[in-house]
Amino acid sequence: MTISLKPLPFSPDALAPHISATTVQLHHEHHEAGYVDRVNRLVSGTKLANHSLEQIIAVARDLDDQTLFDMAAQAWNHSFYWSSLHPHGGGLPHGAVATLIDKDFGSYDTFAEQLHQAATSKFGSGWAWIVLQSGRLYVTATSNADLPSEEQIPLLVIDVWEHAYYMDHQYRRAAYVGAVIEHFLNWEFANERLRLAGEDNRAPPSRLATNGLSQRVI
Ligand code: FE
Repeated sequence: MTISLKPLPFSPDALAPHISATTVQLHHEHHEAGYVDRVNRLVSGTKLANHSLEQIIAVARDLDDQTLFDMAAQAWNHSFYWSSLHPHGGGLPHGAVATLIDKDFGSYDTFAEQLHQAATSKFGSGWAWIVLQSGRLYVTATSNADLPSEEQIPLLVIDVWEHAYYMDHQYRRAAYVGAVIEHFLNWEFANERLRLAGEDNRAPPSRLATNGLSQRVI
């Protein structure tokens, strides 16, 4: 096995009632596990077999191998998503990320509105991100399995694929996104990512080739 399905950082019922245990379990044990399994099958017997997930993503991107990229990026995105949530998170941020939000968005309310807008207006399946680029925070959204650009270091993500919310909120993506922003965004994790981004900025350029993806915190 090259990569493995990481355990959830909280119990499956910890996000209920906003995100039910059933949704969390199906999401983790079937959707995410399916991506992990596909990556392992795709790299089995190849020179990528002992590479990290971040390295596999970088190689798939370089080789323009869309299938491998999609599966590997989805495995990474889901792991990052669970780390982006905390059962007692959400609401007002604290620490370094709070300072950046005030500086770059003017207020938490403006930030929350822009994140909600990015997550709800993304057409089809995708991801809404809070990213750091050149010392500034941005809200952005990507389609399907796509990651933020290589200049952007992800701090937090919200999965806006229908499987993330349809059982609990049906077509009301806005209700799910609102609940994540209000109750679950993991500000501790965002602050840890900011700290690591500071380290990354002092690292050799080759480390930046992995898009600021760090195995140490996911
Ligand atoms: Fe998902």
